[in-house]
Amino acid sequence: MPSPDAAGTAPATRQEHAAVEVRDVEHVYGRGSEAVAALGPISLDVPAGAFLVLVGPSGCGKSTLLRLIAGFEEPTSGSVRTAGAVPVPGKGAGVVFQQPRLFPWKTVGGNVELALRYAGVPRAERPRRVAGLLDRVGLHDVAGRRVWQISGGQQQRVAIARALAGDDPLLLLDEPFAALDALTRERLQEDLRRVSAETGRTSVFVTHSVDEAVFLGSRVVVLTRRPGRVALDIDVDLPRTGPDPDELRALPAYASLRAEIGHAVRAAA
Ligand code: ADP
Repeated sequence: MPSPDAAGTAPATRQEHAAVEVRDVEHVYGRGSEAVAALGPISLDVPAGAFLVLVGPSGCGKSTLLRLIAGFEEPTSGSVRTAGAVPVPGKGAGVVFQQPRLFPWKTVGGNVELALRYAGVPRAERPRRVAGLLDRVGLHDVAGRRVWQISGGQQQRVAIARALAGDDPLLLLDEPFAALDALTRERLQEDLRRVSAETGRTSVFVTHSVDEAVFLGSRVVVLTRRPGRVALDIDVDLPRTGPDPDELRALPAYASLRAEIGHAVRAAA
């Protein structure tokens, strides 16, 4: 749990907003007899620099919460704020979906370049920025290839590079590795963990996988069955840099977090 100070209130010097504030949010799809209560009531604050993983049974409202934070949906009641303001789709957050959603007629570099163009980066600066972003996700040697000439895992790396291109303060990821084979998935998890430590970007990541949640998160929130509420909110007190992935997974703290979160997910389902 994020702990308040001794008096139970925010320190007087901390005026700035959390990166994400979710207050008493409920979300209902449809109306009347068709209404589906998908989420809430739920309240969450995500401080800047956190890597929050939302985990829970299928249909519990994880993607709904992510879409509310992205501004793709408005809450039925309550409020969502990112950097203190109502979220606007396409502004302030890079989003990665389960499918990479790249432009197939463009090259790998061209896809990232387009994101930089949309972000208002001057043309002369873009080649250097494209190279830097592709380097960051381990794709420097495929910049000139077409999207259909690279693997699914590489396509998802391009999607991550594109989401980082705008220098948005938030990175939102909705089961980005769910369609990948196990080995590719592990590699991408490892690289995303490294990228997250390097960029310090505030991230919200949705997954079904307890392992993925413990490996990636600095904090994990388990949601109950629909309508999703907080069943468990736990800080993942593992080093963000230092041990290699195998060492990290072998730590006793890793195993106990995995057990606690796994138990909460099973209880929620
Ligand atoms: P999760 O990401 O946890 O699998 P979702 O947020 O996608 O869950 O969905 C939560 C619930 O809301 C599910 O029961 C789903 O069927 C329903 N739902 C999601 N999107 C819509 C929609 N556009 N219209 C109606 N119901 C929806």
